[in-house]
Amino acid sequence: MSSMLVDNIGELVTNGAGEGPLGIRRDAAVLVEEGRVVWVGPSAYAPAADRRLDAGGAAVLPGFVDSHAHLVFAGDRAAEFAARMAGEPYTGGGIRTTVGATRAATDDELRATVRRLRGEALRQGTTTMEIKSGYGLTVADEARSLRIAAESSTETTFLGAHVVPAEYADRPDDYVGLVCGPMLAAAAPYAKWVDVFCERGAFDVDHARAILACGQAAGLGVRIHANQLAPGGGVQLGVELDAASVDHCTHLSDADVDALAGTAHSDGSGTRTVATLLPGAEFSTRSPYPDARRLLEAGVTVALATDCNPGSSYTSSMAFCVALAVREMRLTPAEAVWAATAGGARALRRDDIGVLTPGARADLVVLDAPSYLHLAYRPGVPLIRQVMRNGVTP
Ligand SMILES: [Zn+2]
Repeated sequence: MSSMLVDNIGELVTNGAGEGPLGIRRDAAVLVEEGRVVWVGPSAYAPAADRRLDAGGAAVLPGFVDSHAHLVFAGDRAAEFAARMAGEPYTGGGIRTTVGATRAATDDELRATVRRLRGEALRQGTTTMEIKSGYGLTVADEARSLRIAAESSTETTFLGAHVVPAEYADRPDDYVGLVCGPMLAAAAPYAKWVDVFCERGAFDVDHARAILACGQAAGLGVRIHANQLAPGGGVQLGVELDAASVDHCTHLSDADVDALAGTAHSDGSGTRTVATLLPGAEFSTRSPYPDARRLLEAGVTVALATDCNPGSSYTSSMAFCVALAVREMRLTPAEAVWAATAGGARALRRDDIGVLTPGARADLVVLDAPSYLHLAYRPGVPLIRQVMRNGVTP
């Protein structure tokens, strides 16, 4: 059994016991054995270990948990982005462009894209990344999308209900039947979660409820894309179905916020549903940002994720999302870093990641900076000096 001591940490974000909401410890060390954190304490009292990683006085934080990403696709939509920046509105219709390219791609082409983007995110400090299907939209293409996603993540999500594909445009009920029937059956062995894009132009609340209920019955956890482009019933549907997360939350009514704010109690009542905000999407579609302060002040648990996808948010950088959240959504830097680590873990119903406390997975990043504050203070700068995942430095 080999142990590794990460010591000489100037500022350690634990998201556990310590100073402030991030559980900060100064002059700290972390002992790692068998891929787990086994001890956290002052550097001066650190136990001996087989190997040592000297943080050189820099900040160390839990690896980012990106709980919302669409990595299984082919082609790119740079021209659509350029047109949008020149004034065309975002409607979500471009998803069908990617569906065509994805269906035409080979398994190896899709696999290469997933690996490239997963590697890109890992180098930027993302140690856990959820990966959705949703650009195949046939039984075979959704199943292979999830099979390929499962090679790179255990957090895989069946999003057969991303849009109604063109061949079902005039009979959406039939498509919902396909999703709930043979497509779910083919996808479920490779999926942990089921998700629906609940939005005008995609799936209405009744269709979303039917699909999520089928997924739940097949043993999948629920997540939902809701209230991104307009108000609607998606957020309340997510809370009703005990979704782990409702994602986007850009257009919320008071009733939506109240539903999300019903705090979880030990007797099982209240909501455990997290609001996951995806500011990369508002950035890349030049749309108004969600009112994050309203959620935080109501006591809602907020996560941040990239929504990495080729249409509306082609970034894999959680640090960029932290900077956007601080600058554009008025999160404090501490709130944003918590949302990008512990918040993402809650959105995946995980308690072994997003924290650096004994028992947690040894997923951490060493910054090229003395404090987590620099993630928002120095936007666009590559501040991730070293990444450890499962106790291993790749
Ligand atoms: Zn998405």
